[in-house]
Amino acid sequence: MSETATTPVIDRDALRRKYAEERDKRLRADGSAQYRRLESEFADLAVDPYTPVAERAPVTDHVTFAFVGGGFAGLVVGARLKDAGIDDYRIIEKGGDFGGTWYWNRYPGAQCDTASMIYMPLLEETGHMPSEKYAHAPEIREHCARIGRQYGLYDKALFHTQVTDVRWDEAKAVWAIETDRGDRFTAKYVGLGTGPLHVAKLPGLPGIETFRGKAFHTSRWDYAYTGGSPEGAPMDGLADKRVAIIGTGATSVQAVPHLARAAKELLVFQRTPSSVDERNNAPIDPDWFATVAGPGWQKAWLENFCGNLAGGFAAEDWVQDGWTDLGKRIRKEILALPMDQRTPENILAAYEDADHAKMEEIRQRAERVVADPEAGQKLKAWYRQLCKRPCFHDEYLQAFNEPGVRLIDTDGQGVERISENGVVANGVEYPVDCIVYASGFEVGSEYTSRAGFEVTGKGGITLSDYWEKGMRTLHGIHIRHFPNLFMVQPTQAANLIANVPHNIVDHADTIAAVVRAAEDRGAATVEPTAEAEQAWVDLIASGAGRTIGSTECTPGYYNNEGQGYADASRFAAGHPAGAMAYFMHIDAWRRSGAFEGLAFG
Ligand code: NDP
Repeated sequence: MSETATTPVIDRDALRRKYAEERDKRLRADGSAQYRRLESEFADLAVDPYTPVAERAPVTDHVTFAFVGGGFAGLVVGARLKDAGIDDYRIIEKGGDFGGTWYWNRYPGAQCDTASMIYMPLLEETGHMPSEKYAHAPEIREHCARIGRQYGLYDKALFHTQVTDVRWDEAKAVWAIETDRGDRFTAKYVGLGTGPLHVAKLPGLPGIETFRGKAFHTSRWDYAYTGGSPEGAPMDGLADKRVAIIGTGATSVQAVPHLARAAKELLVFQRTPSSVDERNNAPIDPDWFATVAGPGWQKAWLENFCGNLAGGFAAEDWVQDGWTDLGKRIRKEILALPMDQRTPENILAAYEDADHAKMEEIRQRAERVVADPEAGQKLKAWYRQLCKRPCFHDEYLQAFNEPGVRLIDTDGQGVERISENGVVANGVEYPVDCIVYASGFEVGSEYTSRAGFEVTGKGGITLSDYWEKGMRTLHGIHIRHFPNLFMVQPTQAANLIANVPHNIVDHADTIAAVVRAAEDRGAATVEPTAEAEQAWVDLIASGAGRTIGSTECTPGYYNNEGQGYADASRFAAGHPAGAMAYFMHIDAWRRSGAFEGLAFG
């Protein structure tokens, strides 16, 4: 197939109608309730297939800092604290090692979707050169272990351990932490970095428990069954198997080419196609890397990407990928408007035109690459690019040209049910040996429900109650009534979801600076003032609200399956002036050393 694009012709009104039609087909009354957690009768599917659980005695000591979550957040905060002279640090992690999402997601083909140079944290500090522009999962997981080793974070870590309760002990001014391994210990400070996508979900399909073949979720890949390895050894266990994969999101897009090569037959069950743009991965050349990796290089790269994303406002584009391309296109459309016509409406229309042009190119790519014209049409995504997670891959669409691969499109209706023998869709039963659920992760439920524990602060106030009418923080990190507690997540902060690690590294800098200041001042507690928190929440609420998640979009986890988020969600946004504005504000705030808005007690 030729990969040459032609210039698309855009009919804005026709596209709007088509997008609305496609969305309406997919709307369903049960919204997010259509999914099931890997619990109760599905608990077996949640078992860690990668590391055996080691017996250990419960821990009952005290540490200076306890961090919930051993992904990038816990690792980077630990590293920055160590640099700030605080190394009595314990990570509590439900997986069997560090890595967070990269611990669990070992499906074949897993790889970062944002360039390694900016996605992998602490490259400069560890001296690691990523092997590829978009590194594969084993390298990222090993990088997590490298950070853990370099900063001594393994020493006190508790793996295969789920926190069950975090409670402020007023009398002792410490946090009391309980876990499912019987641990009861205390910490002066607590950090929460549980990540947004850590509760795997299954489609709540009738008959799902009756299937007699093999079934697993992509975040619990069963290499004992499939053969092969996350490092890319061929999955020879599938050579005589008919495999179904349910879901066509970012995970499926990466896994399908590998399943297509390994399985005798692969049936890809699609409800909504992903937009799949070019990836253009390549090895990183050590000579080139040596020229860019001078002192401060990674921070400069983070800022360059962030600047380009915010409408192409950085001078050069170093990363040059699908994310920055969109930013540059929007900027070009806006700059094409005469000065006196740059009204908010015209700017939004320019954004829409840039989006339509991009999506049309992506749709044309599906048509060009896929040999079967019908499948090529069905693989076209009919929504605006940020309605769903944009995907980038150079082998996914091509996989549908393999002889054993079939797209089973369901015209937005999804799989109907699972039978003893296989998958039922469009009224047809497809017998299969194995079902891979690429059905994603729970998003949008209450923070404490997803985290799996409640946090109880001063005066017995719970985080669930405190946030009932919407999230409240100072800078997305500190919470009134929850002294010495720090969140690591992007909301009410930079909200730079195209490169979440940038938010994490920046939060880690803040946390280390605040803890260092508290220790230097001999403070027992540090907590935001009521005024500072209110002012920050007001600032967040003064913006346009969530930048993604419009109910005009096709349903998905971005928009609570088409139902949108309640009024409280207007607080679930980033800095109204954008990610760069947040980073600049915080940088100045940290540097001043006054930590305005925090009360040290
Ligand atoms: P998603 O939630 O994106 O995808 C779930 C898929 O399951 C969707 O295609 C959904 O269809 C489909 N589905 C659900 N129910 C049914 C049904 N009854 N019948 C048929 N299909 C069904 O999960 P992913 O794991 O793919 O991705 C989750 C997120 O993880 C991504 O958005 C991204 O943020 C992150 N990720 C990041 C990667 C990276 O950076 N390298 C790689 C992979 C994931 P529908 O769209 O219609 O709801």
